[in-house]
Amino acid sequence: MHRLYENEDITVFWDSDKCFHARRCISGSPMVFNFARKPWVDLSKGENPNIWKTVKLCPSGALDIVYNHGVRVEFDEEGSRSLALLDDRIVGECDFEDQGEAFRIYHTEVNPEFENKGIARRLVFKVAEAAEKRKKKLIPVCSYAAKVLG
Ligand code: SF4
Repeated sequence: MHRLYENEDITVFWDSDKCFHARRCISGSPMVFNFARKPWVDLSKGENPNIWKTVKLCPSGALDIVYNHGVRVEFDEEGSRSLALLDDRIVGECDFEDQGEAFRIYHTEVNPEFENKGIARRLVFKVAEAAEKRKKKLIPVCSYAAKVLG
């Protein structure tokens, strides 16, 4: 399962397949990370520096974190894509084809000036999260998406 938890400044990635429940996240920030709650991550319950420190304690790589750099990522169902937006300017996108039972991800791109900031990964996770919430499979034919989704 792929999920994104976002506030204005940070994005936390969650890949449940990698989690082996070492529970360091829960010991580190029990108000933010709580497996008994849905959603289990609530960024509003902590301060960004502490959340950052806690995520870095995760031994499995199930959790990861990036700064948003002022870029927000949205799911655009009508456009069959996720979009990275700086104000109203599109600075990246991840495109998929809705095949009914699956989202086939065929293209991910970020403007060169926004590369290496975790934005492409946020874009792929946004599509993956939307697919999983709709009980659809993921077919990543874009090599970057395939790498992110492992
Ligand atoms: S610290 Fe990482 S591996 Fe451990 S429970 Fe939390 S997410 Fe899972």
